[in-house]
Amino acid sequence: MSLPRRLLGQTGIEVSRLCYGSLTLGPAQANLTPERGGELLAHAFARGVNFVDTAELYETYPHIRAALRTVATPPIVASKCYAYDRETARRSFDQARLAMDLDVIDLFLLHEQESTLTLDGHREAFAYFHEQKEKGLIRAIGISTHAVEPVQALTQARQGHADALWRDLDIGLYREADVIHPLLNWRGLGLIDGTAEEMVLATRAAADAGLGLYGMKMLGGGHFLHEFDTALAFALAQDQMAAYAVGMQSEAEIDMNIALFSGLAVDPGDLAATRSRSRRLVVSDWCTGCGACIDHCAAKALSLSEADGKVKVDPDRCVLCGYCAYACRDFVLKVV
Ligand code: SF4
Ligand code: SF4
Repeated sequence: MSLPRRLLGQTGIEVSRLCYGSLTLGPAQANLTPERGGELLAHAFARGVNFVDTAELYETYPHIRAALRTVATPPIVASKCYAYDRETARRSFDQARLAMDLDVIDLFLLHEQESTLTLDGHREAFAYFHEQKEKGLIRAIGISTHAVEPVQALTQARQGHADALWRDLDIGLYREADVIHPLLNWRGLGLIDGTAEEMVLATRAAADAGLGLYGMKMLGGGHFLHEFDTALAFALAQDQMAAYAVGMQSEAEIDMNIALFSGLAVDPGDLAATRSRSRRLVVSDWCTGCGACIDHCAAKALSLSEADGKVKVDPDRCVLCGYCAYACRDFVLKVV
């Protein structure tokens, strides 16, 4: 059996169920060179993965560019950014095209939308992306989110009815959203406003309304490696998700995930090695306690320690995304 593919909502874009989540290649995690990251991506693309997820934040455009130079059939590329107005949106979009050497970006999303109010604050950027879509420079637009509310809000927008969620806000161009990239794992770890069950219901409703969905954090960033089988079974049972983005750092890991997503048996040794791996966010000694990273954690896992004034991590909340690492200019934080 080969890696299955699914249509991403009504975009006409067909993606492999396994999406290469490139965050793990970048500076906050494995910190691979573009050449090595490009090799890993090309390895996956040659074996049926046709979908890669990145973001301006991840600093993995060079890795994707390196891979794109070596493959005959380009994969579907999704990126996202924190732009909020026309100018920041234009800059982010231009940077993505330039850095990956692409004329057209397949999916371009607003990154980490937390609520309907957050959507409202980013509507100018979304309008810019819609304009680029009309020109044929983006194929599909949408959002990524760690929250249930934006999924419900875009579903309502698409259905053309606003209720209390949108209050007196104008849905505007959000009715044109095509894609949502939501966080969903079996325990709901990392969800900022609800449970796994609520996200399952919200994402099913979104899919029914015609939105394309691809999930993230099925392993809770690594928390569920010990419960790998349960976490994987839950993710693969989410039929409303066309794909799941999974971070991978070696050829063996890629091959194992391709087999698992294809319903094939995997080498028991590889599986045991994956289950026994543990990941954590490391805070280095030289943390000054400036607090700049704290607001960058949507999971509210960071605070300042009263004991030594340095930042401390709540491991029960942290999904090991590494986003806080990008906020620290002193390179104190790293997911290992
Ligand atoms: S980890 Fe970095 S940003 Fe966070 S408090 Fe420490 S020095 Fe500041
Ligand atoms: S503490 Fe850092 S790695 Fe953990 S969830 Fe927050 S932003 Fe992500």
